[in-house]
Amino acid sequence: MPVGADNLERLEEEARREIAAAESLQALTEVRARYLGKKGSVAGVLRSIGDLAGEERARVGQLANATKQRIEEAVGERRGALERSDRDRALDAERIDTTLPGAEEPPAGHLHPVTRVFRDMVEFFTSMGFSIEEGPEVETEYHCFEALNIPEVHPARDEQDTFYVEGGNVLRTHTSNVQIRAMTGRTPPFRFIAPGRVYRHDLSPRHYPMFHQIEGFLVDEDVSFGDLKGVLYAFGRHLMAREIELRFRANHFPFTEPSAEMDYACLLCDRQGCGVCSNSGWIEWGGCGMIHPQVLENCGIDSDRYQGFAFGMGVDRTALLRYGIPNIRLLFEGDLRVLGQV
Ligand SMILES: [Zn+2]
Repeated sequence: MPVGADNLERLEEEARREIAAAESLQALTEVRARYLGKKGSVAGVLRSIGDLAGEERARVGQLANATKQRIEEAVGERRGALERSDRDRALDAERIDTTLPGAEEPPAGHLHPVTRVFRDMVEFFTSMGFSIEEGPEVETEYHCFEALNIPEVHPARDEQDTFYVEGGNVLRTHTSNVQIRAMTGRTPPFRFIAPGRVYRHDLSPRHYPMFHQIEGFLVDEDVSFGDLKGVLYAFGRHLMAREIELRFRANHFPFTEPSAEMDYACLLCDRQGCGVCSNSGWIEWGGCGMIHPQVLENCGIDSDRYQGFAFGMGVDRTALLRYGIPNIRLLFEGDLRVLGQV
């Protein structure tokens, strides 16, 4: 077939159509090879001009080279366009639309009921000028018992109640060890609270081997049981956010004298009797009393000049009452069905 300007024009038109239709760099490479490769159409034209006469050969050769160059330029432009759109697509795919809703809302956490009650208690006492004091949970028998007037024969030291650990130490059974540590070497007046974990060998719906206590004590001159009652009434009012009625029952603790158990009137039945208060109308709150003079002396404090009061109560039980949780174990099992409700 003779080669002429017409053939080259058609070739260029076809090439331009295919270049424009190439939707990917791969397709474009294939189109380029078809027209400009060693075995491509333009190369075929150049090969065939050997049959033409001299003048005609030079003319068609020039035309073919010019055509080749224009096709090459068209390929280059198309490649640029395809590369740009590839990049745009990649950027589109990477873009994060922060206004879209999440796949699923994760469960939201909040403070554990015990933590909330603890914080509430601490907030009250710090507002009354009490400082926070902490002590070790693994404690010597001296700080946990002896210094608190609990001799070795006392039932509180029975292994049934106390966890003994290596080295003759115990897991503290109450936060009163902090009382000894805080008072020793200090000169009154002072007032402290000691919130923390305590351990006893006990497991029932109302008891758990680990539970939380808060203890408070104040030492000064002319401190009376009336001061103690005033603080406890104010504390109860703060915790329950209303007027409360307290009852003090004489009791015996080795580290206080006189000592009392305290109850508050059941808020749920107004002392008429209900399931929460075991139909008694009263709910046990904790123990309190005037610090035993011997305990003050054990800490190097002159018990003729100074008196003090001390009180302690369970934090978990307060949380149970406040949130209406029937079993103390529910507080520590981490079940979101429970924790999500309070
Ligand atoms: Zn009641």
